[in-house]
Amino acid sequence: MSFAALTRLRQGLAALRTDHLERRRLLLDGAQGAHVTINGQHVISFCSNDYLGLAADPALIRAAHAALDQCGVGAGAAHLITGHHRLHHDFESAFAGFIGKPAALLFSTGYMANLAVITALVGRHGELFADRLDHASLVDAAQLSGARFSRYRHNDLAQLESQLADSTAQDRLIVSDLVFSMDGDLAPVDALLDLVERYDAWLYLDDAHGFGVLNQGRGGLTDAARASDRVIYLATLGKAAGVSGAAVAAQPDVIEWLIQKARPYIYTTASPPFLAACLLESLRQIEAGAARRARLSAHVAQLRQGLAGLKRGVLMPSDTPIQPLVIGANADAVQLSKDLLQRGLMVPAIRTPTVPVGTARLRITLSASHSADDVAQLVEALHALD
Ligand SMILES: *Cc1c(COP(=O)(O)O)cnc(C)c1O
Repeated sequence: MSFAALTRLRQGLAALRTDHLERRRLLLDGAQGAHVTINGQHVISFCSNDYLGLAADPALIRAAHAALDQCGVGAGAAHLITGHHRLHHDFESAFAGFIGKPAALLFSTGYMANLAVITALVGRHGELFADRLDHASLVDAAQLSGARFSRYRHNDLAQLESQLADSTAQDRLIVSDLVFSMDGDLAPVDALLDLVERYDAWLYLDDAHGFGVLNQGRGGLTDAARASDRVIYLATLGKAAGVSGAAVAAQPDVIEWLIQKARPYIYTTASPPFLAACLLESLRQIEAGAARRARLSAHVAQLRQGLAGLKRGVLMPSDTPIQPLVIGANADAVQLSKDLLQRGLMVPAIRTPTVPVGTARLRITLSASHSADDVAQLVEALHALD
């Protein structure tokens, strides 16, 4: 009997190979950090989201050991059964206090949190408005919600406003990355807040790349957005926080609604409680992390100054640790990434269709765990290859 579906799948894989779109997983040994062993090669990595260098921090490791001894490995059940550990609960309170919102809810991943929040707040009679550069998890959530889905050009609030003005939906939700993950720029938070107030909508801000880094680590919320009941805030906890998971902060009734209604919250096992212990320690390190953030800012300034005269590529305007160097054609970006790797520097090439045609780039991410010498090596190599 022929197995037509498997044949089609094999043809699909072959097509990816011919189009140079096949993705390969690199093998990491040891701990995440600025200096890592990947596929057996020692490299300086400019590709992790471990912006503060907390992923292998000794204080977090100690917190993990202590919690493992006390509460074991697995949570054993969903939050609404018997999996909701005091450590989860304590982290939620601490996170809400730190962000300056009245309540918070912990999720296992940012992807799940996005599915949860969006599907719980809008359904078939709702409408979602999303920036074209929003993260894939937000787009997937929109599809799952069944709501009408309108996308606006990147940070184009005039287009967004005209979409809002045309909307007859019962519930409206604007969804935006707070720091855009491929460009490193910010959403205009106060202008978005003004729109949700005028058009009676919710505003959901995904701050995966701002939490821990911006505004003394509190992320990209402005004071007005922090105070607004319309604003729902997401921090993912596997990036600057160095651990795993995600936390949503909002008005208490919104959090209660998520607990009651959000299926990706309800129908899944709680994350291991020792991770919540790590997160509590991570939050302390973030709060006391001025020196890490100062180091990170110094690296950003050093890189931008060092690459100013480059001919082959131009840095996009960004003050965040995401520093995209736009090269242009897919093949050129890939070649430059390979040449850097030969020199022991790992910087990923981001190609179409992830980014628009002609803007293939090296996505350089910096971390407090880099040294000034690491950054200098990258700058020198890019000049040598220019
Ligand atoms: C990484 C990321 C997510 C997903 O978070 P995970 O915890 O890794 O699942 C969501 N949104 C944005 C903008 C991200 O960069």
